[in-house]
Amino acid sequence: ATPTALMVGTGRGAQLGILIKGPEVLETTRKIDTIVLDKTGTVTTGRMTLLAVHTAEGTDETDVLRLAGALEHASEHPIAQAVAAGAAERTGTLPVPEDFTNVPGLGVQGVVEGHAVLVGREKLLAEWALEMPVELARAKAAAEAAGRTAIAVAWDGEARAVLEVADAVKDTSAQAVSRLRALGLKPVLLTGDNKAVAEAVAAEVGIDEVIAEVMPEDKVDVVRRLQGEGFSVAMVGDGVNDAAALAQADLGLAMGTGTDAAIEAGDLTLVRGDLRAAADAIRLSRRTLGTIR
Ligand code: ADP
Ligand code: MG
Repeated sequence: ATPTALMVGTGRGAQLGILIKGPEVLETTRKIDTIVLDKTGTVTTGRMTLLAVHTAEGTDETDVLRLAGALEHASEHPIAQAVAAGAAERTGTLPVPEDFTNVPGLGVQGVVEGHAVLVGREKLLAEWALEMPVELARAKAAAEAAGRTAIAVAWDGEARAVLEVADAVKDTSAQAVSRLRALGLKPVLLTGDNKAVAEAVAAEVGIDEVIAEVMPEDKVDVVRRLQGEGFSVAMVGDGVNDAAALAQADLGLAMGTGTDAAIEAGDLTLVRGDLRAAADAIRLSRRTLGTIR
């Protein structure tokens, strides 16, 4: 394509809500055959809500909400914000943690009112050699079968509760996936969340391939592996945990509603956070380069 055509393509992109880092980006989109989609914040809104609290026998729900809410209040994770907001709504002012550590991809841990508290995936509890009592394991399985994320809460060496949180699929995601397919791309859902939740979201938007329970630092390896299998890979993401994968992908598309780290790592920014713009971007580049009319 001529430099003028590339400039026109870039300008048209801006009108469609797509910011392109440079005209050379258009060239790489031509060969893309696979598109990896981050789940939380990309396919879903990322705005989570605390839906239910399941307590172990002898545990008080207010204690669960105060201790878990206090710790999550210190984290910026969408799940953490849902737990903190739900806890504050139900119990009032939350205590301030004496100690707090974010454990990326797993949860949070710290000290609240003298108790050593963990909030996060069952894997985080397992790292502390804690097991869930059978009634909590059952609540977790039921929540996940319903497509919700189940978060464990433990303190002073005992698993005490399971929290159910969920976020909604964006109403544009299913249409975006079908447009990406129409462009000949194979969509793959990639997430740190558990398999059951990921599969429920995938089914809702029409994706067959799911790669779940991937640690933040391993997302880049998933992209590398697909590339090693000969695929030309686009990646769409919004989080700090997506930045390395966005940089590794042949084409990185960042949600404009996402973190600065993702936007800096991407080749393209989908300004409005609408996944349909990913299909627009690829169609536009191909058209600009004369591959399709
Ligand atoms: P995603 O890849 O979907 O954007 P993350 O990699 O950030 O998700 O997190 C993976 C999983 O780790 C979450 O689905 C959740 O189960 C757990 N997790 C991470 N951070 C927190 C937190 N602050 N509180 C509770 N659970 C968390
Ligand atoms: Mg995300």
